[in-house]
Amino acid sequence: MTGETASPSASPSASPSASPLLELRALHVGYGAIEALKGIDLVVREGEVVTLLGANGAGKTTTLRAISGLLTPRQGEVLFDGRRIDGVPPHEVVGLGLGHVPEGRRVFPDMTVLENLEMGAYRFRRVPKGELERVLNLFPVLAQRRSQQAGTLSGGEQQMLAIGRALMGRPRLLLLDEPSMGLAPLIVAQIFAIVREINQQGTTVLLVEQNAAQALRLADRGYVLETGVIVMTDTAAALIDDPRVRAAYLGEGAG
Ligand code: ATP
Repeated sequence: MTGETASPSASPSASPSASPLLELRALHVGYGAIEALKGIDLVVREGEVVTLLGANGAGKTTTLRAISGLLTPRQGEVLFDGRRIDGVPPHEVVGLGLGHVPEGRRVFPDMTVLENLEMGAYRFRRVPKGELERVLNLFPVLAQRRSQQAGTLSGGEQQMLAIGRALMGRPRLLLLDEPSMGLAPLIVAQIFAIVREINQQGTTVLLVEQNAAQALRLADRGYVLETGVIVMTDTAAALIDDPRVRAAYLGEGAG
């Protein structure tokens, strides 16, 4: 592992001295006899986009589920803004300002776009003023389809709705689980551009991706997870140039 604390961030929005918004310390998570995470350490600082890369089954989804309280770690700690949140139930974690867009989108198919978005603001007694407008401005296609049933949207539109719904909870940290999965390249590019915009508007992002090239172009820093262990971490720029990353994740020969 390269010295991640020594790596300056590539983003002007996140200085290396910024306090960690999220910190995983020696995190172990398992399913029965399967040890999915074998003691991982990870830091996301306020203002950053950090990507977590890894092959199928490496433990990326497990990491996000442990952060948002859907899984309880066996050992180790999850700290959000300096406070221990491992063992805190998911709805309380949302209330602390953590939004999770799960793999496979999972919008409410029988509800309209607007109803889905309003559900995202459930932690507030009423939808905060201007919030719906802000989210619809980010996703003009959702504004056009606000009365349409979510189940009838295209895959890309459903992904946008899932992200929009999480934003309605005004998260400080947004966890995104493979937002590009199963989408056409043009739609993927749109979604990554929106994630950049969301970050520029002040939301910190932890992005899980198999699409390493796009993720590293967007991110300030990255971590590489292999079978439950962080094997590499550095700035995104350094990871893009790393021959091991190029060979294993960017589809290039090692030479
Ligand atoms: P993918 O990109 O395929 O989603 P991933 O990196 O997100 O992969 P995880 O889904 O976190 O990987 O899975 C990590 C390991 O834990 C894998 O070996 C997987 O088979 C196992 N695993 C995940 N969920 C469960 C579960 N509910 N029960 C048992 N084992 C599980």
